[in-house]
Amino acid sequence: KKHACCGFSRLMTTKLHLTPFLRLSRRSPLAAPGLSCVSRAASNAPPARVSRLFQPCNLREGQDAGDMTCRSQRLMLQGGLLHPSSPGCFHYLPGAVRSVEKLVRLVDREMRGVGGQKLDMPALCAAEPWKRSGRWGLMGKEMFRLRDRHGTDYCLGPTHEEAVTELLASQGGLSYKQLPLLLYQVTRKFRDEQKPKFGLLRGREFYMKDMYSFDVDKDAAQHTYQSVCEAYGRLFDQLGLRWVQVQADTGNIGGTLSHEFHLPADIGEDRLQVCGNCGFAANVETLSPGRADCPRCESSSLVESKGIEVGHTFYLGTKYSSVFNATFINAQNKPEVAEMGCFGLGVSRILAAAIEVLSSDDAIRWPSFLAPYQVCVLPPKRGSKTGQLTSLAEELAHSLGSGLSNLRGEVVLDDRTQMTIGKRLKDAARLGYPYVVVVGPRAAEELPQFEVVCQNSGETLFLSREALVDMLSRVETV
Ligand SMILES: [Zn+2]
Repeated sequence: KKHACCGFSRLMTTKLHLTPFLRLSRRSPLAAPGLSCVSRAASNAPPARVSRLFQPCNLREGQDAGDMTCRSQRLMLQGGLLHPSSPGCFHYLPGAVRSVEKLVRLVDREMRGVGGQKLDMPALCAAEPWKRSGRWGLMGKEMFRLRDRHGTDYCLGPTHEEAVTELLASQGGLSYKQLPLLLYQVTRKFRDEQKPKFGLLRGREFYMKDMYSFDVDKDAAQHTYQSVCEAYGRLFDQLGLRWVQVQADTGNIGGTLSHEFHLPADIGEDRLQVCGNCGFAANVETLSPGRADCPRCESSSLVESKGIEVGHTFYLGTKYSSVFNATFINAQNKPEVAEMGCFGLGVSRILAAAIEVLSSDDAIRWPSFLAPYQVCVLPPKRGSKTGQLTSLAEELAHSLGSGLSNLRGEVVLDDRTQMTIGKRLKDAARLGYPYVVVVGPRAAEELPQFEVVCQNSGETLFLSREALVDMLSRVETV
């Protein structure tokens, strides 16, 4: 990992960056507690204070989450990120919301990169289109159904093929020049799980990104399919997650070609076969039972592993577009049924699965992009010999969080100074802030040094202020 070995020119840039804040005296009124920040520009907002965060941690109690639990669920409950509501439903507390929002921004970036346009369709879906596609019956008990005062049937949307295809069909006269059209949303989805378990991994209400593509013909649709699969790969790479793309069953979505994206994990509910020889990978559901040889290279190198499904892609053909008559006007000026694909990402599931695979049993580790806050600054314990360093810590937290554009709003100050540094360090380790900066005795020396714990690499460094600023200026955020 890169750190203090900074180039001189880089240091200069960073210094320029921070100039306005170096003018603040340590006793700047900005650091005074209780000062309203309403009128101040967001870029200059004071750092969040741990004592004020709504993050009801039960780190030490080891809160019991019941039988249906797993590491990510336990850590998220203990860390004050989630609070159980009803079976399979959770309150996302502020830390979790910050993380989900970051993930959505990464997803947006990738989806826009392949031409996706974001929309937002109702969660309350009329039954009629589902009856037309034949899925009203097919979905069975997994679908939440309800009836309005007029006696009309509705469901809480588990997916939106019907809705989006009907939407497109209502826009008769779309030209072939407007295709491919890729529409996506990130919304709450609903599934009446018989046994919700593992927190956000198998809930009844969850966030999903679902994208629907419309193309002029099979070749174009396959091209779109490929480009979205590649975008999924880039997303998981950015999150630093080990992932595998496997051939999958099309289930009740339908179509002729389908892949799942999995994070290998012991608690995963899907069984995968991966060939060590040619790289072939499939969900066992798609292989004939008892098969021991690879269907592609016929070697006997198939290894079974378990995975958490975090993405699913389908090439649908005209399954839905022919039912709803979703057509475009082709080059010969004739209406033609569009070729479709659909592409799901389990947004809340990615968050939980990432925590599941990266964390230890008692400490959360985040994909660096998704940590609710990047930096936690620890002032010394109140009344200790180094107590006069408190204002330095406050000023440092403030200048990092508003002076470095990448860390704007990303810094918290653990102002629970009635606790020892050691205790707060332990909490910080459990909550997984990627960078913990301790303003301890060495910060009072003539050449002040700050202790920096880089939690994702496990390193502890002692850095001058310039080197600290330089290292943190390179932290990538979204
Ligand atoms: Zn093989």
